[in-house]
Amino acid sequence: MTPSEFRALGHRVVDWIADYQERIETFPVLSRNRPGDLLGALPASPPEKGVGAGGGWDAILEDLDRLILPGITHWQAPGFFAYFPCNASGPAILGELLSAGLGIQGMLWATGPAATELETRMLEWLAQLIGLPSAFEGCIQGTASESTLVAMLAARHRAGEGDLVAYASEQAHSSVQKAANIAGIDLRLVPVRPDLSMDPAALDAMIAEDRARGRRPFFVCATVGTTSSTAIDPLPPLPPDLWLHVDAAYAGAACVCPEFRWMIEGVDRADSFCMNPHKWLLTSFDCSAFWTRDKKSLTGALSVTPEYLKTAHAGQVIDYRDWQIPLGRRFRALKLWFVIRHYGAEGLRAHIRRHVELAKRFESWVREDGRFELCAERTLALVCFRRRGSDDENKALLERVNASGRAYLSHTVLPGKGYTLRMAIGAPATEERHVRAAWDLLRA
Ligand SMILES: *Cc1c(COP(=O)(O)O)cnc(C)c1O
Repeated sequence: MTPSEFRALGHRVVDWIADYQERIETFPVLSRNRPGDLLGALPASPPEKGVGAGGGWDAILEDLDRLILPGITHWQAPGFFAYFPCNASGPAILGELLSAGLGIQGMLWATGPAATELETRMLEWLAQLIGLPSAFEGCIQGTASESTLVAMLAARHRAGEGDLVAYASEQAHSSVQKAANIAGIDLRLVPVRPDLSMDPAALDAMIAEDRARGRRPFFVCATVGTTSSTAIDPLPPLPPDLWLHVDAAYAGAACVCPEFRWMIEGVDRADSFCMNPHKWLLTSFDCSAFWTRDKKSLTGALSVTPEYLKTAHAGQVIDYRDWQIPLGRRFRALKLWFVIRHYGAEGLRAHIRRHVELAKRFESWVREDGRFELCAERTLALVCFRRRGSDDENKALLERVNASGRAYLSHTVLPGKGYTLRMAIGAPATEERHVRAAWDLLRA
């Protein structure tokens, strides 16, 4: 494809995206595809002859509408309330496009000086935006799951030998268990208090019990904003031989607003911290921000340098390959730069506050309707509620709402509450009328 062919097709694709944004409300939020629908429609073998840049692209773009769109669950639709959001935004999409256009791979400073240094500065900006102390140094990981895994590996490197034990609450994200499985670490789940946050007394008791047995407690993952209900674990003062990792994948974004920084009170004691701009901070997937105060342990755990990766600048510059699992890395700082410059701190705060206000309103409607009940305290923009009645009735309600195509909610099971509906407000396009429509649908 020549640059001029790319230019013409690129304009059509950008137009397609803008059209998609304009008509997003016309699609069912949750895809109605059945398993195998797309597989059945795609040729079993690749074409021998390519279409080239001529009229053949008409067919490709038609197939995008005909085959792909029906199989899309529309995360950017204003009626998407199912999971924590996965914000896309104009500036982030343009950053992604330019990143692809540059086509670099920034594993080393030398293979991407601008990518490396822009990332360093963006993580400094982001740390300031959310109120993280300057002792934290950061990089972009693909996902919070990777952030948790690298934190655990750094902690293990620092801890050294022994019968190592890690801790997280019963409400921690499944990625903590997955990280422990990958690292071959025994993870113990700490009971939660009635508000579903980790019980610090129970944590202390488990640590003491393990020490008494000759085991080596080395890692605690505190969740600031659990996935099921946005419970906030306290950031406990820990003995210095324990690594405290803070998983604020979702809730960390809200810390751009000073009124929500109480959630990370004590973060200066943490060894590492993670929040996902790709959730609720307008930065298209993937972009997980990870910081540590102990870079030496992180790079100690992850740095392996064969001859072909040695460069003249080693030691004077950051080679982010040493901070992550893969070698190669995308130029993800570009979209973050665009997002922060486009919206500014003010715009980001307004984005968060708008959704929190909408969630408050939804919560008040639930409270006023005797047929429903709230199931957990609302912290940010997630409302956990259920219809008074059986789990099966709630399950049926959720299925009917989702089948309508007009809204998409998800569920969880909360201790003592049973089957619980999750209304997670966070798509950039969501306005009050969409929240109201979802509520009317639920009541009907
Ligand atoms: C969403 C979420 C994760 C997982 O995020 P990925 O970036 O998809 O790995 C981890 N922890 C919490 C608390 C989350 O809400």
